[in-house]
Amino acid sequence: MTELEKMNDPALQEYYLQLVRHYEKFQAQKLKLNMSRGIPGPDQLDLAAGLLDCINQTNYKAADGTDCRNYGGVDGLPEAKELFAQLLEAKPAEVIIGGNSSLNLMNDLIIRAMLHGLPGSETPWVKQPQVKFLCPSPGYDRHFAICEHLGIELIPIKYQHDGPDMAQVEQLAAADASIKGIWCVPKHSNPTGITYSDAVVKRLAAMPVKAPDFRIFWDNAYTVHHLTDTPPRLLNMLAECKQAGQPDRVFVFTSTSKVSLAGAGIAALAASEANINWFKKHLGIQTIGPDKLNQLRHVRFFKDRAGIEAHMRKHAAIIKPKFDLAIAIMEAELGGKNLASWSKPQGGYFISVNTLPGCAKKTVAKTAAAGVVLTSAGATFPYGRDPKDSNIRLAPTFPPLAELKQAMELFTLCIQLASVEQELEKRGLRQ
Ligand code: PMP
Repeated sequence: MTELEKMNDPALQEYYLQLVRHYEKFQAQKLKLNMSRGIPGPDQLDLAAGLLDCINQTNYKAADGTDCRNYGGVDGLPEAKELFAQLLEAKPAEVIIGGNSSLNLMNDLIIRAMLHGLPGSETPWVKQPQVKFLCPSPGYDRHFAICEHLGIELIPIKYQHDGPDMAQVEQLAAADASIKGIWCVPKHSNPTGITYSDAVVKRLAAMPVKAPDFRIFWDNAYTVHHLTDTPPRLLNMLAECKQAGQPDRVFVFTSTSKVSLAGAGIAALAASEANINWFKKHLGIQTIGPDKLNQLRHVRFFKDRAGIEAHMRKHAAIIKPKFDLAIAIMEAELGGKNLASWSKPQGGYFISVNTLPGCAKKTVAKTAAAGVVLTSAGATFPYGRDPKDSNIRLAPTFPPLAELKQAMELFTLCIQLASVEQELEKRGLRQ
């Protein structure tokens, strides 16, 4: 039972008036804050300032003498492949270095699968009557957008505490040859914050699938983005797929967007050598070579996995207080009222909040009307349709603490307002 259901009608109406008065004070402040996307703050970008000084007019050659200013090296500098092989627990031969965006790699990969087919495909995907992807939800809206844009049908899959509902995934993937893929953010997931359990990883690697060219899109965007000193461990999906006799089943993605510079980082792909050779063949048509100077800068700045991990501890020192503040305000304002629940992530960039069913859209609209933009309600579900209208993704990293405090106070107030309005409507006390 919610706190509101326990109130009699006059008490509920009085409480509503109090909330409205409080909300009007927020409106008078004319706030202008945006918390809609997971963006690093400028102080986080400053941590990578040295990256810009790692090369100069005379010092631009890779370890093997490659002149990084020139064309070539389509799959990446050897030392960049070595660095990302460490990060992705793969062999350098199983890695391709991309441009500045992993989303770009995912998008291009799926377009190539549509136009040309993947290793194991009977036809290019576009020649099939329908292509479908499994979408554990709430999930990352831009994954869903890539598929939607290409006419790929999105099938929502429920999340459990340790990953997608595997019974549902196994049943669908085994029965339907038009299901070609599943989107996974396996560590500090966007937005739920969960990390997939060993059992889920092993079941995904080994499950029977009907499509001969089924792939797991393993977006390990938050692989080193921890908020604690004891982060959860994620099994190596590439190794698990090999062990299960399905070496080609997975494409692993990551980037340094939230490690170095969000607009000028480096993305990478890891996969079996068969998948990598296929990707390289298509990449060679698209470009003569990537920005190797940026690769060189990253290798010189971070050196190795340990260098990246040490750097990420500096990020955590900046953003953990923001997560702590956001959660403390929700606990203070909403704790014990049964009006919402929220994740307490151990890493990543988001807090996932669930309001009472039917209250998410209203909450986000009220927050926006008082000057704080959040991720659209529904965005975390395929086609923007949250069946319960309950999930809201909070991105607390960008605003400074003082602004985050204002935004969270407004947000928690709007959750209460939306919940009270719904309760008043239920009782016929409000139209
Ligand atoms: N994957 C996930 C799960 C993300 O949350 C993000 C950024 N919000 C991206 C990919 C985008 O990565 P990139 O900057 O490498 O394109």
